[in-house]
Amino acid sequence: MLITLLNLLAAALFIFGLKKLASVKTARLGNQLAAAGMALAVVVTMVHVTELSWVYAILGILLGSAVGAYAAQKVQMTQMPQMVALFNGLGGLASAFVGIAELLPKAQLYLSMGHFSHHQQTAIWFVAVVLSVLVGGLTFTGSLVAFAKLQELISGKPMALPQQQLINAGLGIACVVLTILGLAIFSSAGWVITCVMFLLVISLVLGVSLTMPIGGADMPVVISLLNSYSGIAGAAAGFAVGEPILVIAGAMVGASGIILTQIMCKAMNRSIANVIFGGFGAEDSSGGGGEYKNTKSTSAEEAAMLFDAAQLAIIVPGYGLAVAQAQHAVREFANLLEKKGCKVLYAIHPVAGRMPGHMNVLLAEANIPYEQLVEMDQINSEFKNADIALVLGANDVVNPAAKTDPKSPIYGMPVLNVEEARTVIMVKRSMNPGFAGIKNELFELENTLMLFGDAKKVVSDLNEQLKQL
Ligand code: NDP
Repeated sequence: MLITLLNLLAAALFIFGLKKLASVKTARLGNQLAAAGMALAVVVTMVHVTELSWVYAILGILLGSAVGAYAAQKVQMTQMPQMVALFNGLGGLASAFVGIAELLPKAQLYLSMGHFSHHQQTAIWFVAVVLSVLVGGLTFTGSLVAFAKLQELISGKPMALPQQQLINAGLGIACVVLTILGLAIFSSAGWVITCVMFLLVISLVLGVSLTMPIGGADMPVVISLLNSYSGIAGAAAGFAVGEPILVIAGAMVGASGIILTQIMCKAMNRSIANVIFGGFGAEDSSGGGGEYKNTKSTSAEEAAMLFDAAQLAIIVPGYGLAVAQAQHAVREFANLLEKKGCKVLYAIHPVAGRMPGHMNVLLAEANIPYEQLVEMDQINSEFKNADIALVLGANDVVNPAAKTDPKSPIYGMPVLNVEEARTVIMVKRSMNPGFAGIKNELFELENTLMLFGDAKKVVSDLNEQLKQL
């Protein structure tokens, strides 16, 4: 009874934690609540499981905590998708191991009552074991490939064998056949275990063969999808071992991962199928994007004079701001403008950067007040009142082609109406395209001035100039 109550409390902490994560203001508390829930769940499980090897469990906790603490300190914000990929993958592998560890000692015992399919309970148990192994294995290798592509350990280009879809379909069918054999045909533990081991091997191959054909640029979405899979594998493992708290935690990860994937796809105006089979963003983005005519560039000195006269300035942060780690310089810049009587707002696009909420986290790091961070739907009507829009390392999320060019790969993606501001200052290092690898006609507009350089350096220069005015 006490165990059930404590597990319920842990589940409630997960739910409240997740709820609080929905807003920047409460996200830190949400994280702490969910972490407390997980700590409680671990302690409760360790106390009530009878056959526990305390030494291994404690060693595992110490090792895991050390890796987690190290990663949290060392990993850059821009590398977060890779880190999440690794953690998802290990979660998937852990679920697969749990499934196998559950199967090995119990298969013979349950089979002595007949095929698994003869009894509802053993049938559910076996399907849960199979799902934890299958989804867990696939998540593991899929996440490793996603990690390697993002970390540029392997090429980010889509890589597929001839007839790749046919091969994947064949592997999928093999999984179904092996599951049926184990569930209803084989009556010896040896054969059933062999079946599950084959399933593990196939799932490991499937993880690679499903992820390899997807371009490196789409990996953040794939990682979010794999995050969902790791939750499903965890929930299946929870069913297999009869631990409701694992089922709850897994289901929450599974559901939130799929919701996040949908949010990312919707904000990019793409379907999940288009991400998985589309090869978008796969082209080399180093030089492409088309020729530019009649662009005008400016200097920090000139730009500072424009800011000096502005009443309303909107800062548009993007991926380049995160790369340059310019958030603290931006904070100083905003303070200087505010001292001169200029109102400063930040335009937050839902997929600016490389993960949802990337800009919110980055700006929060520099203690930029939440109230100044305005979501796309609200800020879009403000641009026409703005004297100046400062685009800092953003590109696709301010590309008017999304509204005007039906042939553009980003057509239909909601974007920020920066071009409506009186003056637009584009800060980037070159004329290179952004994530989608396409030309941005904003650069050629009458009211756009290019200010070339690393975002941190440019904003620091602007700060120096503003101080002198
Ligand atoms: P983009 O990737 O479109 O553009 C980033 C720009 O930053 C580039 O044009 C680059 O130009 C510039 N840049 C890079 N480094 C620096 C630097 N050190 N200083 C100054 N500028 C720099 O970024 P956006 O944020 O506009 O768009 C995000 C893209 O990512 C969208 O296409 C979105 O769909 C996609 N995406 C987002 C996800 C999310 O969840 N947020 C997930 C998956 C994809 P240059 O090289 O010339 O400096």
